Amino acid sequence: MTENDSFDVVVVGGGAAGLSGAMTLGRSRRRVLVVDAGEPRNAPAGHAHNYLGREGVPPLDLLADGRAEVEAYGVEVTHDRVTAVTRTDHGFVATTGSGREVTARRVLITAGVVDELPEVPGLTERWGRDVLHCPYCHGWEVRDRTIAVLATGPVAGHQGLLFRQLSDDVVIVVADGVELPPADVERMAAIGVRLEYGTPREVVTEGDRLVGLRLADGSLLEREAIVVASRPQVRLDFLTSLGLSPQTVDMGGAAIGSVIAIDPVGTTSVPGVYAAGNVTDISMTLIGSAAHGNRVAAFVNADLAAEDADRAVAERRAEMFEQPAWEERYSGERIWSGRVNPQLEAEASSLTPGRALDVGCGEGADAIWLARRGWSVTALDFAVAALEKTTAHATEAGVGDRVTTRRADVRSWEPGGERWDLVSSQFVHLPDGGMVDVTRRLASAVAPGGVLLVVGHHPDDMATGLRHGHRSFLFTPESLIPALEDGEWEIEVCAVRPRTAADPHSGEEVTVRDSVLRARRLG
Ligand SMILES: Cc1cc2nc3c(=O)[nH]c(=O)nc-3n(C[C@H](O)[C@H](O)[C@H](O)COP(=O)(O)OP(=O)(O)OC[C@H]3O[C@@H](n4cnc5c(N)ncnc54)[C@H](O)[C@@H]3O)c2cc1C
Repeated sequence: MTENDSFDVVVVGGGAAGLSGAMTLGRSRRRVLVVDAGEPRNAPAGHAHNYLGREGVPPLDLLADGRAEVEAYGVEVTHDRVTAVTRTDHGFVATTGSGREVTARRVLITAGVVDELPEVPGLTERWGRDVLHCPYCHGWEVRDRTIAVLATGPVAGHQGLLFRQLSDDVVIVVADGVELPPADVERMAAIGVRLEYGTPREVVTEGDRLVGLRLADGSLLEREAIVVASRPQVRLDFLTSLGLSPQTVDMGGAAIGSVIAIDPVGTTSVPGVYAAGNVTDISMTLIGSAAHGNRVAAFVNADLAAEDADRAVAERRAEMFEQPAWEERYSGERIWSGRVNPQLEAEASSLTPGRALDVGCGEGADAIWLARRGWSVTALDFAVAALEKTTAHATEAGVGDRVTTRRADVRSWEPGGERWDLVSSQFVHLPDGGMVDVTRRLASAVAPGGVLLVVGHHPDDMATGLRHGHRSFLFTPESLIPALEDGEWEIEVCAVRPRTAADPHSGEEVTVRDSVLRARRLG
């Protein structure tokens, strides 16, 4: 599969909904493929009406213009048919009738519907011309004409009302087996719509001219237009491969069509698959379908943007919190100053040396400082490269005999039976409040009478701009206190300490704040 076969979104169907969706996505710089079989629902009609700005445009001209417009934004539009869409671990694979296979992260179904017409000889041939269904699409064009409404279901009363608005010569022909609700019958009588009963035998034409309907009794009802209720049905071809099945649209207890069910943002029951336009709502007109495609595509784009950002977050977190990134960081030049961390110096200078655990030892500066003051130090880190640096630096400093290293990840580390007189964690940070659990683990390693010292960047540092986007990693000293068992600890320091530091970007001096928690385990 080449780059040309890999898309953010495959749009199935390039009618008004699909092309409008593609416009939104293309203008958002998404890689989009529109696969269109070229059979829009209104293709039988000579002109499309009720579409602001393009009133009376031939349907295929409107779509040709739309294709050119979306192509200008880098969207690929291909004349083909999607025959199957399957889910993969990374998205979807769509297969077309021509044998092309493409991948996509999302699928937007805008495949429209197919109109099933009542079975009256001669009706289908005139569909979209003088056999109509929608007063808003072509009602104006038959105003003041003689109109028959063929009642094959419950919609007939509704159509009678609306076409009577346009003409004072409307007759409803009620097919066998159809019973109009009494309220509709009364309304028709009141507004001057006549009723004829019996399934008509055929549509009568003369040359290419509609003459009327041959009624059940053999008489001719001369008419200039015939209104029918089609039953729009979702095309099933590729839906089954996706695990989608159509939902019946019900009116007055009768099935009047089918759609794909969606939620308010256009998501179907299959995650990652969206739908818009007539395929989701059989009452949508052209402009409504276009607007819906435009709207749902915006949600598709937002979904993709959120996914991209989540991936970036995961990568960034791996950079900040996972071992491979730290191995790489410590494998080159020295990255820290080599000086002891200021809050360790402030808090540990007065302590009587014993056994110290330096958590996240990095290049060993704190371990060396402690060892020089007489502590026997266990330097712990999850990066092998850090431990190697610590050993080398401790040896250089002449305190190699008082610094041992241990490889462990504090997120899962348990001290077992081992205890230290000082457990120090300087600027170890974790996302989503993870430092509370780490503090609990570290606390369990403190000997009776010993000291736990946890220091990190305070959330106020966000204001300095130094720690942009790190909010969930920073912690207050108070937030760590729940990690300490009740009655077992004396909190000696719970403070926020300002100090000055150089902004790594501008080099300017800024004030930063350290969270300092120092607690002593009761003896
Ligand atoms: C006779 C008639 C006249 C109409 N006149 C008007 C009018 O004047 N004004 C108005 O507002 N509304 C009109 N409508 C309604 C209008 O046609 C629909 O509202 C509109 O077409 C819906 O747009 P859509 O994009 O959802 O679907 P469609 O326009 O039907 O487009 C769907 C596209 O998807 C393609 N497709 C389907 N399956 C696949 C597949 N598997 N792979 C690839 N492509 C596929 C189809 O070939 C088609 O090109 C009319 C309807 C009819 C039946």
